[in-house]
Amino acid sequence: MIAITCAKCSRRFTPVAEAVQAALAASQGQKHAQLICPHCGKGNKVAPERLKPAVRLNPPAAAAPPAEPAEPAPPEAPAEPVSEG
Ligand SMILES: [Zn+2]
Repeated sequence: MIAITCAKCSRRFTPVAEAVQAALAASQGQKHAQLICPHCGKGNKVAPERLKPAVRLNPPAAAAPPAEPAEPAPPEAPAEPVSEG
């Protein structure tokens, strides 16, 4: 994760991967991406080159471990046969 120093209030903040991705997406064709400072709410211009590694290191859709069923499902009444036609 990267740390951004706000140019308005001089406080540091670390934007979440989603915010970085959104800023990168919005900066297509522009020189700077804009990240909103959570402290003062002002936008900070950041070079996309600084943000790209952060997104690469923190993919928003991280591979989550497969969820296993806590317990076997209770037996249910047999479903009625589907008659086509
Ligand atoms: Zn700020």
